[in-house]
Amino acid sequence: MKIVVATHNEGKLPEIRTIIVEELGEAARHVELVSAGSMNLPDPVETGVTFEENALLKARDVARRTGLPALADDSGLIVDVLGAAPGILSARWSGVHGDDEANIDLLLAQIADIPDAKRGARFCCDAALVVPEQCVERRADGSVPQAQETTKLGEMHGVIIRARRGSNGFGYDPIFVPNDQPGRLNDDGEKLTSAEMTAEEKNAISHRHKAFVALAPAVRQLIG
Ligand code: IMP
Repeated sequence: MKIVVATHNEGKLPEIRTIIVEELGEAARHVELVSAGSMNLPDPVETGVTFEENALLKARDVARRTGLPALADDSGLIVDVLGAAPGILSARWSGVHGDDEANIDLLLAQIADIPDAKRGARFCCDAALVVPEQCVERRADGSVPQAQETTKLGEMHGVIIRARRGSNGFGYDPIFVPNDQPGRLNDDGEKLTSAEMTAEEKNAISHRHKAFVALAPAVRQLIG
């Protein structure tokens, strides 16, 4: 079964495919993932005010345009002392969408006076599966099927440090030290930022990974 991933980032496909193979085993061979980008679908404007709303909005848009089941995710960083921020505005916190360096500089300046013990934060990811009504099996009583929507949240807790470390990953990874550590320290004997972890080490604990693992049973159900 073809499932469209609502992204223009081809890098997301192998990451999601790996999770589906891990979680579904043999049944994963019935799943073919294609990206919205490769189908030349437009990116919808993210008007939601929660990760869940934005993930659903993206998956619904793709499902409606293609008539195929769609997967989407929306993620961001929440810093304890900033309430829900940067949250859904994480990618454009400094005002320029996708300017990771400026986003980090602004965040570090904003919480510069906050003591180490109060610098808790978490990455959140909401993953959504939308199955359009034409893909939902008719029930025995002949009632008209509804589109099916499932969303799952994944979180990675940690702290924001004061200066960047590491060059892997993206976004706020260089200033985020996850509570779950891979069992090794960096060359200076410090806990690792998510930018000092390998992709495998980060995937094992990441918000995105947890969200898609939680969503995998819904994908399993879809392929029957
Ligand atoms: P998106 O929803 O995957 O596009 O992520 C939105 C923004 O949240 C990104 O541009 C990053 O600033 C931030 N973000 C989300 N996940 C991560 C992560 O795993 N590491 C670092 N930053 C992240």
